[in-house]
Amino acid sequence: MKAVPSQIVKELPPYLFSGLNRKKAALRKSGIDLIDLGIGDPDLPTPAFIVDKLIKELKHPQNMRYSTFNGCPEYREAVADFYLKQYNTKLNPEQEVMTLIGSKEGIANLVQAMIDPGDIVLIPDPSYPVYRMAVHLAGGVAHPMPLLPEKGFVPDFTAIPTNVLKRAKLSFLNYPGNPTGACVDLDFFEEAVHFFKKHGIYLAHDSAYNLVTYGNYKAPSILEVPDANSIAVEFGSLSKAFNMTGFRIGYVVGNEEIVQTLHTVKSNLDSCQFLPIQKAAAAALTSDLSLLNDRNSIYEKRGRVMTNALEALGIKAQVPKGSIFLWAPVPDGLTSAAFCEKVMDETGVVVTPGTAFGEHGEGYFRISLSVPDDRLIEAAERMKNVSFKV
Ligand SMILES: *Cc1c(COP(=O)(O)O)cnc(C)c1O
Repeated sequence: MKAVPSQIVKELPPYLFSGLNRKKAALRKSGIDLIDLGIGDPDLPTPAFIVDKLIKELKHPQNMRYSTFNGCPEYREAVADFYLKQYNTKLNPEQEVMTLIGSKEGIANLVQAMIDPGDIVLIPDPSYPVYRMAVHLAGGVAHPMPLLPEKGFVPDFTAIPTNVLKRAKLSFLNYPGNPTGACVDLDFFEEAVHFFKKHGIYLAHDSAYNLVTYGNYKAPSILEVPDANSIAVEFGSLSKAFNMTGFRIGYVVGNEEIVQTLHTVKSNLDSCQFLPIQKAAAAALTSDLSLLNDRNSIYEKRGRVMTNALEALGIKAQVPKGSIFLWAPVPDGLTSAAFCEKVMDETGVVVTPGTAFGEHGEGYFRISLSVPDDRLIEAAERMKNVSFKV
């Protein structure tokens, strides 16, 4: 028999969590009370009015049938309403908005839809691993744009070599960012749109954390840049915004040609999301968003608990302006992986090595704040008391 996986699947970059996961399983088996700060998956409940709307829609027989491939009008119009209200940006819900079964699916299928073998895709490094994996599966070439602390974790566009720019077709950005928590102002998006337009490169902005922001900071949309719609799409997700990861609901908005190209691929592969979920998500997007303030201050408070604990360890980390993560430097002399292993061994607290998000994540680790307060406080206490010197 021939090997089951295709060559391209066999060559997928190794899953960097697998070693850590084996260790996690072993520690758990030996009875250690692990606290997992590795996963970004909101612990707080989905707002009740969204669940109530889902239950109501579940009772309509016509909602049991297929959705149209690009999503039901009620949801697409809700996304357009949200963009008008939140960003003062007009979208045509027919052509410039499409339902996704979570934004992860849309990101991966967009790469499939746009990239031919050998095309270059510019990927922030460190970043959400899906960008890189999707490029590999499409036979494309991922070119990293390093995100460095001295630049505030935004790419230095002038550092991208000319020959790379010539072959590049698509670029990804993500702010508020996973894993760095970095946030940007509209000025940065203006610079990005101007730069990529000049070089004829399409732009996909992943705004998974657009509504997870702290204090007075409001995350801009890339589509607020007047010219953006000519080259850019934005991915959005209800997952982190409304604590709805398991619902699998997101959207893509912006450049009509890109949205419709993604539609071509998706209409051949899937049949869109369950109608009651789209309608519940529509209710979420058209709701009074100030209801998210309490949730966001919980994350911010957790961030402070953790940064204080890290400070006691001699590790300087800042609570970002958004996202559900802390991005902290590992102590001198240790690799990210070695540090995370030591922390797990000593304390039973699981944190993610920066290298899981790309080679420029070396020297950092990521802490997820999406665990209940009491567990986070317990994790912070344990970390304060590690016996190894940092
Ligand atoms: C969680 C996350 C997503 C995935 O969102 P889904 O809509 O649940 O697929 C996309 N991008 C980033 C950066 C994320 O952290």
